[in-house]
Amino acid sequence: MIKLRVTDVKQYIYCPRIIYFTYVCPVEKKITRKMEYGKEEHLELDRLEKRRTFKRYSLSEGERRFHQYLRSERLGLEGKLDMHIVSEGEYFPVEFKHTRKGPSLNHKYQLVSYAMLLEDYYNKPVRYGFLYIIPEKTPYPIQITPNARIFVKDVLEKIREIILKERIPRPNQHKGRCTDCEYRNYCGDVS
Ligand code: SF4
Repeated sequence: MIKLRVTDVKQYIYCPRIIYFTYVCPVEKKITRKMEYGKEEHLELDRLEKRRTFKRYSLSEGERRFHQYLRSERLGLEGKLDMHIVSEGEYFPVEFKHTRKGPSLNHKYQLVSYAMLLEDYYNKPVRYGFLYIIPEKTPYPIQITPNARIFVKDVLEKIREIILKERIPRPNQHKGRCTDCEYRNYCGDVS
């Protein structure tokens, strides 16, 4: 089975063509200011998180574990999770996002993918996790439903298909995404 990363799920949902540029015809992507800024903010957030209570997650107590590397042979998937909370025998993944638009679909399924990895790691079901939107300082609870798990597995299959068939997917129909895309220079057919 082709090994994939959780970020591949996020990228596929943003635009399947990014998978082609990552695995089939690798190119160097442009490092944007937003990415650099995001890294710095993540470090600051780790520091602040350590001092906070669990009230904002609606949990009475718990333990934070940062940057856990997770891997599942069953799913052929791996990734490093920003943070997870262990509370009363349950596990809650948390992903920090720097965005002004609120949680998006690709972020949601990135979190679901991490939840599935956590389940394999601890051998326990994960009921929900959080997308922490940095500018709003708000954690959004995201339910880990059976349908969401099926969707992730389907995405993993589609990603492997792109890699195996070496066929470039059609350009993204959401033109706004192309404007913000780090791979734009390599997409000759988008305006
Ligand atoms: S520029 Fe548009 S079509 Fe090309 S990879 Fe980015 S989002 Fe996809």
